[in-house]
Order: sequence, then structure tokens, then C-alpha cells
Amino acid sequence: YMEISNIEKAFDKNEVLKGISLNIEQGEFVSLLGPSGCGKSTLLRCLSGLETIDKGTFVLDRNDVTETPAQNRNIGMVFQQYSLFPNMTVEENLSFPLTIQKMPKADQKAKIDDVLNIVGLTDKKKAYPGNLSGGQQQRVALARAIISRPKVLLLDEPLSAIDAKLRKNLQIEIRRIQQELNITTIFVTHDQDEAMSMSDRICLLNDGRIEQVSSPIELYTKPKTRFAASFIGHYN
Ligand code: ATP
Ligand code: MG
Repeated sequence: YMEISNIEKAFDKNEVLKGISLNIEQGEFVSLLGPSGCGKSTLLRCLSGLETIDKGTFVLDRNDVTETPAQNRNIGMVFQQYSLFPNMTVEENLSFPLTIQKMPKADQKAKIDDVLNIVGLTDKKKAYPGNLSGGQQQRVALARAIISRPKVLLLDEPLSAIDAKLRKNLQIEIRRIQQELNITTIFVTHDQDEAMSMSDRICLLNDGRIEQVSSPIELYTKPKTRFAASFIGHYN
């Protein structure tokens, strides 16, 4: 469903992605793990179209979108930092991407109610982001990412700023929503337990290259490289 072939990306002389190839099935949930600076965020930004790539191709649902502008890729993205507009209400934040698509206001309303229902925030429509908790803000960010019913969801450490107890709930919720809408998802996290419990497969990245892609169990019981073994072991 997603065919990522040989993607390379450098910033000046800094080669960040050194040939990334990965195929992901429709509806699959893949976590991206790896040390700080190994290129996880860069890879997501390249897939979403926020960053151009130097080499390689990205085929999405049989369409080559390598050169497609971000807004035409139909990919939803959530970042670690709350990326809501602080001066707009929840409702206005959600209508923003729809207005860009020139959707009539009347149709927008139904969409907004629908996603707020999905993330469990129907009562916060008129609230400003500053008056919501971190977890609630990330729910709104998630709602905004899925409001156009994207084929793909890219999540860059969406839960890392959220305390442990709430994080567990949000993990379950993200997985539920992702499965319900059957959205192919790549989830970046630093939390190995999170990757372990949520993922169909885990992709371990090291210095711009893929070390191993396998089921969580297999990664933990059969690390294929010295790096994989020490990376996993390091956190146990
Ligand atoms: P972390 O786990 O800390 O979030 P990461 O795996 O997401 O790390 P990236 O943010 O992808 O890492 O960064 C990978 C490398 O690319 C780093 O060396 C970083 O300095 C560099 N880099 C990322 N974005 C840019 C940019 N816009 N301009 C120049 N260099 C960049
Ligand atoms: Mg990052």
C-alpha cells in the first residue's frame, strides 16, 4: 500500500536518510524507533511532502506521489508539539483544513461533529487550545489530522509530552481510531513499550538506515544486528 523505495535526503553535507526502503500494508500500524537524530522525523516529513527528497520514490496506493505537493497527498500528520492555532477555537482549528479545500460551511459542521465524536471531545468545540489539557490538545490535533479521512496517518511522537497514565489511554484510543478508519499509520516514538504494545511491526532506524523491520516479538527475541540487540537491551 505504501511503497517507500531507496529514499535519500541530505541537508547540505549531512546525509540524513541513506536509502530507506519499506513496504507497508493497508491498515497496518508501523512504529519507527531509533536513537535521537537517526532521521525519524525527517523521514515522516519527506513522506508527508513537507520536505523534498533527493533520491528514491514513494508510491501510495499505486500512485507515485514522490513529486506531489503535500496538500494533495491526503496524508494526516500529528507532531510532538501542539500545533493548534492558539487564537482559534477547537471548531475553528478543525474547520481550517476544510476551508482550504473549499468545503461549504454546512458540510464542515457535520465533519467537525463527527471527528469530535471520534476523539471524545464534543463538549470542547468552543474552547481555545490554551484552556485544554495536553492530552485534549493532542486529541484535537488528531481530529484535525483525520478530518479529511486521509489514507495515511503520520504521527511524530504525539504522546511524548503527555503524562504516563493519560498516555496509556491515548495509545489505546489512537489504535482504536486507526483501526476503525483503517488508516495506514507510521508512529514515531522513543518509548519501546509503547511501540511494543501498539504496533503490527516495528522499524528500527539507525543513522539514516533501517536496521530491522519485524513484529515486536521478533525484534525483541531475535534482534538481527548487534545494534538492534544493544538498542533493545539498552532500555530493558
Ligand atoms: P529525535 O528522536 O531527536 O526527534 P530524529 O530521529 O527525529 O531525532 P531528525 O529530526 O530527523 O531526527 O534529524 C536527523 C538529522 O537531520 C539531524 O542531524 C538534524 O540535525 C538534521 N536535520 C533535520 N531537519 C533539518 C533541517 N531542516 N535542516 C538541517 N538539518 C536538519
Ligand atoms: Mg524527531
